[in-house]
Amino acid sequence: MSVRRVMGIETEYGISVPGAPSANPMVLSGDVVTTYAAARGIRRARASWDYADEAPLRDARGFDMGRGTAHPSQLTDEWADDPTMANVVLTNGARLYVDHAHPEYSSPEVTTPRDAIRWDRAGELIMREAVARLASLPPGVNLYKNNTDGKGQSYGTHENYLMSRRTPFLDIVKHLTPFFVVRQILCGAGRVGIGVDSRTNGFQLAQRSDFFETEVGLETTLKRPIINTRDEPHATADLYRRLHVIIGDANHFDVANLLKLGTTSLVLGMIEDGWLQRDLTLQQPVATLQRISHDPTLRARVTLASGQELTGLDLLEVYRDEAQAWLDARHGGALDPDTAEVMHWWGTTLDRLRRDPMEARGEVEWVAKLGLLEGYRSRDALGWGDPRLKAVDIQWSDVRAERGLAHRLAATGRMTRLVDEAAAAEAMTRAPGDTRAWFRGALLERFPDEVVAASWDSVIVEVAGQRQLQRIPLMEPLKGTRDQVGDLVESSTSIGELLTRLSAPA
Ligand code: ATP
Ligand code: MG
Ligand code: MG
Repeated sequence: MSVRRVMGIETEYGISVPGAPSANPMVLSGDVVTTYAAARGIRRARASWDYADEAPLRDARGFDMGRGTAHPSQLTDEWADDPTMANVVLTNGARLYVDHAHPEYSSPEVTTPRDAIRWDRAGELIMREAVARLASLPPGVNLYKNNTDGKGQSYGTHENYLMSRRTPFLDIVKHLTPFFVVRQILCGAGRVGIGVDSRTNGFQLAQRSDFFETEVGLETTLKRPIINTRDEPHATADLYRRLHVIIGDANHFDVANLLKLGTTSLVLGMIEDGWLQRDLTLQQPVATLQRISHDPTLRARVTLASGQELTGLDLLEVYRDEAQAWLDARHGGALDPDTAEVMHWWGTTLDRLRRDPMEARGEVEWVAKLGLLEGYRSRDALGWGDPRLKAVDIQWSDVRAERGLAHRLAATGRMTRLVDEAAAAEAMTRAPGDTRAWFRGALLERFPDEVVAASWDSVIVEVAGQRQLQRIPLMEPLKGTRDQVGDLVESSTSIGELLTRLSAPA
């Protein structure tokens, strides 16, 4: 009973080419990936994410549950010829590839919100390094850790949470939907413009809220649902579900990012444990999601199915109080440090937002962005439709340290940092020790020429003297940790020896 669970964050980065509006973003995204891979000495195709064409799974209630488990069935060297196929696995256990014409970094599996921030920040440093290496080439490609271009396009940041397969999906939908409608108050990244194409002038809490159209569904890029039913567990399918969350924003603020992952993990824990009894079902969740996002005063109300009205802060407080009661009941107050940290920030941030949102400027990203924008507005008497404010919004998420406004706030001490820069930088090449990502990363580190391909749930290696490739399955996300196989990997002098020792009886 804690915030701990297997989780990971994927982020598609916005790509801009100011000098060449007609440049193909797909090809440029491929260049980002291959440039980084080449600089890090990744020579061969490392990732194989070909999905076997399986019949969609459907649960008894008719939700479309998506495709079955991924099978790394085909090995491909295609990206050597076609950069849009670029798809590599890094020694930190992450995946770097091109998705929907964006470069995407999918973090390795971690077990705590704090580590999720650390390996998410590592991804941003990787994108920064790739851009720096591209910068000498015309036409000045740049990357942004945001989720909309402000002109009608949105691209995702997905959270992934390992859950028990036993938990009924309807329970997840019921208890998570109201939470997701208001979660943006804690972790929205802020946005200039209302409506998908920013048609109406104004500021809103979250980048993605206007792009959501439905409550539950399989899609991620059209008719976006508050709860996504994609079900590719990348693990033993009858034991686990990987809950794929598409409603969050990419965060620069550590506390916002910690709260995004941490509060969600706690709510999932309560759902798995059958703790949540109260029915918090909302009337009109999609419309309410947008109304909450459009109201930086935090006075907008949500209406429960019962007819009861409360503010978004009130509803977040109901969930926080439930989490506190649940942890008290299960642990009698003694919490592990990761859970205590999330509960601390959850309570503190709600209190600050309630007194005056600006008190949470160092922690809540939309508040910080709004504060900065209000500064420009009053100094230069700018209306919300002024293009300079839209430019500030984009500049906020520039990955370059000297240009990105969020990075400049961090550098001048105006953002509460939980993970220091050195730890994030180290995570660019080092895998988390406590999941299978450690084994994946260690193999790539130690035997770079023998690893032919890797996916979340297996690694494929070539053993000298053997004609067939060997597939090492990693169906258990918590197996393959440094404690379990560290000595074995480090003391093996060849991949053949390692395989023999791995398959020997203990
Ligand atoms: P996309 O949404 O881009 O089409 P995807 O959701 O299948 O793709 P990836 O981009 O491959 O996924 O990223 C998967 C993410 O899920 C990674 O961050 C990884 O660490 C995490 N992950 C992998 N397996 C699990 C699991 N069993 N439970 C929770 N998280 C997982
Ligand atoms: Mg992805
Ligand atoms: Mg995804």
